[in-house]
Amino acid sequence: MKDQLIRMTAANHQIRGFFIGHTGMVEKARQIHQLSPVASAALGRSLGATAMMSQMLKGGGERFTLRINGGGPIGTILCVGKQDGSVKGLVDHPQVESVYLAPGKLNVGAVVGTDGELTVIKDLGLKAPYIGTYPLTTGEIAEDLTAYFMHSEQQPSSVGLSVLVDVDYHIKAAGGFILQVMPDIGEEVLSKLEKQLLQLPPLSQLLEQAEDVEELMHLVMLGFDTVVTERMEPRFECDCSRHRMEEALISLGEKELREMIHEDGDAEITCHFCLTAYHFNRDEMETLLQEALSPGKQQV
Ligand SMILES: [Zn+2]
Repeated sequence: MKDQLIRMTAANHQIRGFFIGHTGMVEKARQIHQLSPVASAALGRSLGATAMMSQMLKGGGERFTLRINGGGPIGTILCVGKQDGSVKGLVDHPQVESVYLAPGKLNVGAVVGTDGELTVIKDLGLKAPYIGTYPLTTGEIAEDLTAYFMHSEQQPSSVGLSVLVDVDYHIKAAGGFILQVMPDIGEEVLSKLEKQLLQLPPLSQLLEQAEDVEELMHLVMLGFDTVVTERMEPRFECDCSRHRMEEALISLGEKELREMIHEDGDAEITCHFCLTAYHFNRDEMETLLQEALSPGKQQV
């Protein structure tokens, strides 16, 4: 299934939502971070949710962050997305040992844990970002996000997320959805939707069946008239750059920079999200030190 993210409505706008196929995105994350199967599943589900929730940022919204920490062996899962479909993400312990609920069925909840919370940060380009948190209940991520939407945003929702990992650790398929009902939804439509979601086969099974994300939507929304209102390509893409790393070094300040130059002469900084290493030699470090000393920098 090719990577695609669609925005849709159903039942004459009484239901709205997103569907995503993001196999390529998770495979890229797996290769960069050398993820174990269960880490691929945990980060993959979070990347899918982040890609979809980034599309919910109101106009001008700049950045969406999802942080999950349940005290489990994987540590913190951190994903950041933008409205253009780019998402980056990491986990503290990418090599966490895989545990299984059944043969082939990864136990994501066991490595994420439930002793903690999920945090959503919406940077809307205003002074203070919106920050919402909710305690984790299962560590399975989709269920936790459903609870988050209900209790923190008072928005009844259904979230499905699934990542299928092949025996050779490649990502076989990844996808998901977020469905939300509007306040004016009719009783009949609501109960039809609840019934449909209850009898839904496991999402992993639908992912193997569907040729593309639109077919996935039709399988999930069986019996509903659906309209796709937007299509885009989600991708694992980091926004780090040499310039941003320079800014980070300068912001360390004079004392720290002098120490680095004195001790090592040069410096290498690695981006945690994409593991790109940026090397700065002694001359470049001296230039950055001069910049840190220039008066204009005090306001940055
Ligand atoms: Zn990066």
